[in-house]
Amino acid sequence: MSTDKHYQGLINKYREYLPVSDKTPVVTLNEGNTPLIKADNLAKKIGLDAEIYLKFEGSNPTGSFKDRGMTMAVSKAKEEGSNAIICASTGNTSAAAAAYGAKAGMKTFVLIPDGYIALGKLSQAMMYGANIIAINGNFDEALERVIDISKNYPITMVNSLNPYRIEGQKSGAFEIIEALGDAPDYHFIPVGNAGNITAYFKGYEEWLAINKSTHLPKMMGFEAEGAAAIVRGERIMHPETLATAIRIGNPASWEKAERARDLSGGVIDSVTDDEIVEAYKMIASTEGILCEPASAASVAGLIKSNKTKAVKEGSKIVCILTGNGLKDPDNAIKYALADVKKTSADINDILRAMNI
Ligand SMILES: *Cc1c(COP(=O)(O)O)cnc(C)c1O
Repeated sequence: MSTDKHYQGLINKYREYLPVSDKTPVVTLNEGNTPLIKADNLAKKIGLDAEIYLKFEGSNPTGSFKDRGMTMAVSKAKEEGSNAIICASTGNTSAAAAAYGAKAGMKTFVLIPDGYIALGKLSQAMMYGANIIAINGNFDEALERVIDISKNYPITMVNSLNPYRIEGQKSGAFEIIEALGDAPDYHFIPVGNAGNITAYFKGYEEWLAINKSTHLPKMMGFEAEGAAAIVRGERIMHPETLATAIRIGNPASWEKAERARDLSGGVIDSVTDDEIVEAYKMIASTEGILCEPASAASVAGLIKSNKTKAVKEGSKIVCILTGNGLKDPDNAIKYALADVKKTSADINDILRAMNI
């Protein structure tokens, strides 16, 4: 362990709560420690008298919460002597795997659904030097192939079925409890493959058990309507949503997500693409935070729940913003509130364009 005082990632910070030892080679980019931002403008805008906090996971090193799981998965793969990793990805897992793979000096393979990856995410995996294979199929099919390959070749699977991913990701719950002094009343979160809701709930359960908090938050998970397998109770063969990070029709952690819902008294519901876009724009224009569309499903879920009075006034609410909006410039420009005015460089033309 290093004796440096500066923050050095979540394994070093939370090692006593994680399955690591002094022998584990820690592969870190100093992930975690993300801001929990009070969102009073948003609360006012949606007409809810409550404390709303946005946990901006987009400020992780590769721009999404996937870094929390990847530091653990790659460190443990290295400890076990593996020299190659593989994942299926809607984009962010591949970016994180590629970055931590590069840092660890391991070969990285990523399978992605061709044509359904936000540009920023693809550019990351390419720059970090991963072997990228774009398949003519969706995420669920890519994951099936990855499971197959990792069973038959000496390549470690780093999707969230890898238990170390969940271990790393549970650190987000620890940070929230530390920041608020207790667990919040409600925890809103997008649901795709359902690894993250599983991980947060595990973190909340573990710290409740050692009296670091006094209660569990109600886990409020939101799928995209076109990919709402858990809500509908059946696998969706052709999931569709503009929120590509949650375009998943057969969530790997399905039962664990239902367990989190049931034990916490929460819900798993869905939001439409229109509701996602409304929230995506509102978060940016009221709070100055650009998240990616999938991330906005948490806030879209809060807006929906507020309309049906499913959240109590005066409560503490955390919404997870899972990834950085810079990853998906196409959608940002498509749905932006402002356009770009072009003028000559003449000051009078500029003043006219400013409309003042
Ligand atoms: C991976 C991801 C999700 C979905 O998380 P799951 O653990 O698959 O439920 C949501 N938002 C973003 C930005 C992601 O990268």
